[in-house]
Amino acid sequence: MLTLNYTYRIYPSSDQQAQMLEWLETCRRLYNRCLRDLKDWINSRKCSVDYCSLEKEYIMSPDIPFPNYLEQKRQLTQWKKTDPFLKDVYSQTAQDVVKRMHNTWEAFKQRGSGFPRYKKFGQYHSFYYPQFKDNPITAESGGINRDGGIPSPRRLFKRGCQIKLPMIGLVPINQHRPVPDGFKVKGVRVVSRARNTQWYVVVTIQCDVSIPDTQPFGRAIGIDIGLENFLTTSDNFTVVPCRFFRDLQSRLKVLQRRVSRKQKRSKNWEKSQIKVARLHHQIANTRKNFHLHIAHQLCDQADSIFVEDIDFRVSSKGFLGKQMLDGAFGQFRALLQWVCWKRGKYFGQVDHRFTSQICPNCNSHTGKKDLSVREHQCSECGYQTTRDHAAAEVIKQRGESSIVPLDGRERKQPTECVLAGSNKTSQVQRRNALL
Ligand SMILES: [Zn+2]
Repeated sequence: MLTLNYTYRIYPSSDQQAQMLEWLETCRRLYNRCLRDLKDWINSRKCSVDYCSLEKEYIMSPDIPFPNYLEQKRQLTQWKKTDPFLKDVYSQTAQDVVKRMHNTWEAFKQRGSGFPRYKKFGQYHSFYYPQFKDNPITAESGGINRDGGIPSPRRLFKRGCQIKLPMIGLVPINQHRPVPDGFKVKGVRVVSRARNTQWYVVVTIQCDVSIPDTQPFGRAIGIDIGLENFLTTSDNFTVVPCRFFRDLQSRLKVLQRRVSRKQKRSKNWEKSQIKVARLHHQIANTRKNFHLHIAHQLCDQADSIFVEDIDFRVSSKGFLGKQMLDGAFGQFRALLQWVCWKRGKYFGQVDHRFTSQICPNCNSHTGKKDLSVREHQCSECGYQTTRDHAAAEVIKQRGESSIVPLDGRERKQPTECVLAGSNKTSQVQRRNALL
């Protein structure tokens, strides 16, 4: 079973926006209520053996079962009788809120840390429709916007690209890519962004095919990620570092200063807060676009791509934290993996330790380099190159040595599945020609 998520921008009317905001608030309160019950139950089962607590004691009958997902879903019908707001929300959406809370709880139990928290006002940003009988998107001529760019909502209405959301109604949608043939819409998540001024839908689509994992093949490259260059490949291809946040930082400073001079929670304060939120949204979008471009560029260059398995969260807390976070290397690696999968390329992660301390030419340890040393010069064989290029070459060698050679006949042929925006078929043909 193949599941994909496609995100589209939607343009709800002001009435629809008000309704969706009310739903979000009701969902938030429901989420908190479920969590409250769960916490009360847990506290009632905790007790100090040797003394009575002086402050408070949670007393609950021992017959009351643990409020698990099914139990709380059953209670939901009772809550609806007393809460008029809850009745207005689509019933499956409300059930999904309960499920979401329990997913968080299960994740916490697995992790062992980070107890689920209450959601404050304005911290709940999405709700979900888990079931659709048929495709909710009604589109004219495939729904592709030929002119490029975002058309005005009025034109979208004219063109007839709309999504039918239960109880909310028809909402204009910018369906910039069609749902591929053979895929069925499983669920739709409505997301509010940029302080509830922009709305998106994340459409979950499913197809009953299985795609085997890509095996390493063809030309391989190693990638070293850094701050001097955004990345360096083993072919000495470099990308200049991105400065999306740092370039717009001064603008952000101005906007944030304006916010601080307004009276808190006033209308003007809200207006300036929206400007700040939009700028952050813009920065994140530009960065993601850049990452996708680079990922596709790398896929053009090679068939197997190897990267280091560094945990970037550690270095983002160091003295170059802002630069690390501006690069968003974790996001880049995740997107690269996705693009590789989509284009039928192999993506592999290798051990990151000592990549900058080994000579790619003779494999001798050159000792620890300080971060300021940008050149690699081997004392054993005299190999000389830049530090990042040497590291990328080491990563490539590690990746290649980790491959277990497969017999040509055992190699699985990937299913041909054309996704929007990918040229997977041509890639598959090229790959078969290479093998
Ligand atoms: Zn050497």
